[in-house]
Amino acid sequence: MKKIALVAAVCLAGFSGVALSQGIQQTKGSFVDKFRQLDEVLPTPNVYRTAGGQPGHQYWQQEVDYQIDVTLDEANQRLAGTEAITYQNNAPDTLSYLWLQLDQNQHRSDSIAELGSTFNSANPQTDTPARISLDSLRSLQYMEDTELGYEINSVTLDGGAELAFTIVGTLMRVDLAQPLRPGQSVQFTVDYAYNIVNGDVLYPRGGYEHFPDDEREGGNHIFAIAQWFPRLVAYTDYEGWTNKEFLGAGEFTLEFGDYEVAITVPEDHIVAATGELLNANQVLTAAQRERLQQAQNAARPVYIVTPEEALENEREGTAQTVTWRFGAERVRDFAWASSRKFIWDAKGYQQPGADQEQILAMSFYPKEGGTLWSEYSTEAIIHTLEVYSRFTFDYPYPTAQSVSAKFVGGMEYPMITFNGPRATLQDDGSRTYSLAEKRFLIGVVIHEIGHSYFPMIVNSDERQWTWMDEGINSYLDSVAGREWDPDIPGGAEPRYIVDYMLSQNQQPIMTQSDSVTSLGPNAYTKPATAINILRETIMGRELFDFAFKEYSQLWKFKRPTPSDFFRTMEEASGVDLDWFWHGWFYTTDHVDIGLNRIYEMRLDTENPDIDYSRQREIEKSLPPSVLVERNRAEGLQTWVERNPDVRDFYDDNDQFTVTNKDRNSYNAFLEGLEDWERAVLERAVSEDRKYYILEFANEGGLVMPIILEVEYADGSKETLRFPAEIWRRSPAQVKKLLVTSKQITNVVVDPLQETADANIENNYDPRRIIPSRIESFKSDGGGGLDGRDIMQDIKTELKPAEAEDDGSSDN
Ligand SMILES: [Zn+2]
Repeated sequence: MKKIALVAAVCLAGFSGVALSQGIQQTKGSFVDKFRQLDEVLPTPNVYRTAGGQPGHQYWQQEVDYQIDVTLDEANQRLAGTEAITYQNNAPDTLSYLWLQLDQNQHRSDSIAELGSTFNSANPQTDTPARISLDSLRSLQYMEDTELGYEINSVTLDGGAELAFTIVGTLMRVDLAQPLRPGQSVQFTVDYAYNIVNGDVLYPRGGYEHFPDDEREGGNHIFAIAQWFPRLVAYTDYEGWTNKEFLGAGEFTLEFGDYEVAITVPEDHIVAATGELLNANQVLTAAQRERLQQAQNAARPVYIVTPEEALENEREGTAQTVTWRFGAERVRDFAWASSRKFIWDAKGYQQPGADQEQILAMSFYPKEGGTLWSEYSTEAIIHTLEVYSRFTFDYPYPTAQSVSAKFVGGMEYPMITFNGPRATLQDDGSRTYSLAEKRFLIGVVIHEIGHSYFPMIVNSDERQWTWMDEGINSYLDSVAGREWDPDIPGGAEPRYIVDYMLSQNQQPIMTQSDSVTSLGPNAYTKPATAINILRETIMGRELFDFAFKEYSQLWKFKRPTPSDFFRTMEEASGVDLDWFWHGWFYTTDHVDIGLNRIYEMRLDTENPDIDYSRQREIEKSLPPSVLVERNRAEGLQTWVERNPDVRDFYDDNDQFTVTNKDRNSYNAFLEGLEDWERAVLERAVSEDRKYYILEFANEGGLVMPIILEVEYADGSKETLRFPAEIWRRSPAQVKKLLVTSKQITNVVVDPLQETADANIENNYDPRRIIPSRIESFKSDGGGGLDGRDIMQDIKTELKPAEAEDDGSSDN
């Protein structure tokens, strides 16, 4: 190779020697391979799950059908039921026992959830006393006073023979009379009861809410009933029985099946439930049935029970009961709600050409929901179906419902969701809400209805991998939220996850849900952000949307594991994402790509008549010596100046003087070049491009693409994108050569902040002044502006100017 020197003429950000420690041959020491094959940690593909992430040719899953008769005892807040279970063994294995989930046992005082809970307050052996909230004291008293957990009265075979059962915490093993062979099914009946949990005290996923000062003496209730019958534990090809104790955080993994449920409640109650109402003729009035028909093609939600009717309803109360019958096919669970307080509205949603062409979106809420519910709940359901179906598959069920249950916050079941936010009653009788509460209601309805797709249809294992339903769903709810109103803050926005990714004591996303310390960012926003980045930055929308739809369709009504998701996304897009899954899902690394320095270089021509004078210019451009300048300012004469008569050749010729010896050697160099080499050199010299070396550091550990916005001296800008593979052989530091015809004045890394880069101050060359805020002392320290109930505050009258003298404020 001939020597072609690139000489650094300008260095935009200083220089320090950096050891070349990241060699490709290095296999020990600090080198970390960020691009290792993910197959090293994924399960080996088999006949049930292919190497491409598809259900294998012998894929199987169990089916469990339930026929349940249940009675709600409102006066005693108690529920009693009989369930007939049909268990179809589609596994290639013979089963001698079945496991059932007894989630109500979570609330028993001897449960692992309760005994394993810890007290987190200051050590009392200090000057400050330990603290316990009145809320916690109330919980302790309630658990002491109330018998919680399932009462299992009997487990019997179809013919009436008793089956032995053993209760293990929140689980129950039922020993079968004979082994259940592949392809066989067994029918048995469980007779049970339990006291419904007070939602205002223990904040359970299912329970009751009491309105003590309501229209009716003694108050009214909303019952939001979930995890209310012994449900089969899933039996899977990847884990066998998924019998992990229910501790409260990790949710469920369940089997698909058909349900017929008869719910007996006080006659003046309205019941909402998974599935379709089968006996409308018996439980609804003719007017209500007529309104349901009108709702099918209505432009806006139609009241089935109007606010006035609901108010009338809740004043009465009755000892009569009525039985509501519901049917649901191919669902993994069943939940319901019941109250005489319910206002009920409905609006149809059409899916032309789909298996399920007509869907009824419905909301059930008390007057306390106000216009927040009547305006937005049902519309938000339909918006969710529109957006989610576009990304996945047609919504396959006949109903989609939102029920107001304040203690729940937000919780999902097939075709039905429980959502918390409500309006606030003001002295003037109006019900108002803050912007935050409005966004919360719309956001939570989108999120919970979104769960109809993940995990209610794409049936991932929530207990093991919360991110598979919460992360994917939070990603899509952020897409749907932005399509509703772009000003709603999106949970998948990369810049919002930065603080969590910098935090200590965090776990990788792949951690089992009960072990995660911060489930919100870990299982919701971090995976949602990762998926958002995957679509917008790594894969691009076209490749992502195709692969994501493929995953959704392959696994609808089936049971995917993380490896199936990882593999399908790669298989269908052709993009190697092993590094991405590794970095985002298996480590706690964060993103921080820094642009450490840029060198601007000019190509030497090798011609001494040109290169020497260029070098002379560079030397002249250096700042003069301070010492010499000050000597001169003081009038000090140098020896040379004082003795001008003593001179020689070097006083008139500097070290950059060109001689014929230099020219001869240049000519000899040119003659020694091959024709193509000379052509390359001549072209490069005549083009006289600028050569820039950009030095990047990976400070966060997580490899990501390098996205650059480059601004040139003429004011033009250009965005350059280099894939994450740039870090493959040198994961801590890389240099990139840019050759341009224009001079670079400015470079910004990740200009749109799309990679969750945790420290953006090292993204600028030259560095920038950081915009921020400073707040003076005597200021309103309270919450954000959107936490104010402006709807109410706007009614505040302006005080006359002199009233300000007393310094009081009613805000
Ligand atoms: Zn969720």
